[in-house]
Amino acid sequence: MWVPRPIMDRQVDSLPKEVKFCKKCVMSNQRPRIVFDKEGVCNACRYAETKKKSINWEARKKQFIELCNKHRSKDGSYDVIVPCSGGKDSSTIAHRLKHEYNMHPLCVTFSPPVYSEIGWQNLRRFINAGFDHYLVSPSGILNRALTKLGFILLGDHNEIFDHGQMGAPFRVALDRNVKIVMYGENGEAEYGGSVDDADKPGRDWRDFEKCYFSNSVDNLVKIGLEDGYIKKEDINARSLDIFMLPPIEELKKGEVEMHWFGYYHNWTPQENYYHAAEHTGFQANPEGRTIGTYSKYAQLDDRTDSFLYYMMFIKFGFGRATSDAAHEIRDGHIQRDEAVALVRRYDGEFPHKDFQIFLDYLSIAEDEFWQIVDRFRLPHIWEKKNGEWKLKHQVS
Ligand SMILES: [Zn+2]
Repeated sequence: MWVPRPIMDRQVDSLPKEVKFCKKCVMSNQRPRIVFDKEGVCNACRYAETKKKSINWEARKKQFIELCNKHRSKDGSYDVIVPCSGGKDSSTIAHRLKHEYNMHPLCVTFSPPVYSEIGWQNLRRFINAGFDHYLVSPSGILNRALTKLGFILLGDHNEIFDHGQMGAPFRVALDRNVKIVMYGENGEAEYGGSVDDADKPGRDWRDFEKCYFSNSVDNLVKIGLEDGYIKKEDINARSLDIFMLPPIEELKKGEVEMHWFGYYHNWTPQENYYHAAEHTGFQANPEGRTIGTYSKYAQLDDRTDSFLYYMMFIKFGFGRATSDAAHEIRDGHIQRDEAVALVRRYDGEFPHKDFQIFLDYLSIAEDEFWQIVDRFRLPHIWEKKNGEWKLKHQVS
């Protein structure tokens, strides 16, 4: 059962009405916060060029060594938190911190809604490769209700997971008196979005809060109570702490800083795959490629994840294959015409295999699912032809 309410996703209002694709990669200008220049090239491509040409990686590595020297514990207590899914990137960062830089990482995972078998096995293999680890799991009752509300109101069932995932490592940092939280890459700069922090080692707290906590969970809860998704007895004043960033004042007092490993190291997702496969037992998807794209090793840990990318396709007209192929063009691994073919073939593929799991987790019926989905199709992106939804513009 779901109650229709106006869509809350504010990103949708600020999308350009004329759909364009980057001339260098295949990214769409419908990606929130991306900027195209006069030549029709996106800022993620421009950032990738800068990365290749003008960054002094030797100097950055020196900075990183200094950062580690400053914070390395002498008695083996934890000195860095690594937000870690057990995926290839975070596994590689934790491994390199421990073995290349002699740090003492504590790895933190915020549990995804529905663990996949391969995701869980990869996480276990990673822990077994010699890493201390916290799994933070929110109560299923509240998590499920807020996940459902995110899907209905924002077209993003992962909204609450994102909050938890971005907040939990900092809670643990404060609890354990660890000063550094080491993220992988600046996703905004790498994939297209805001490049304001592209030349900074980490994000300032206000920007961090704005970037990851802008949709108010309180509002979801309010609507959840009004519309009967959440029962009063299932929630109290502190129930939401587990999904939140600790107060910025506390983080400042605790001298906690966030850094991007990718600011200091010139890495590519593919290299991380090889590193994690060799050192932490990471395995690619045994069932072959991931639905909606051609890759076998990206974000494998959650059975509902494919719906995040499916909804991105519905809301913005591009899917996971576009994101993957655009990044690979920037890394110089594929040509644009290959990327166009991959996007045409895999983008927006429906995740049939996980459909029932998704419906069950959110307790919605199939027809309700489609009613909710169709509300997020914007008229400048979609049109209905002979009773079927078609994209008005495709990359070419
Ligand atoms: Zn581009």
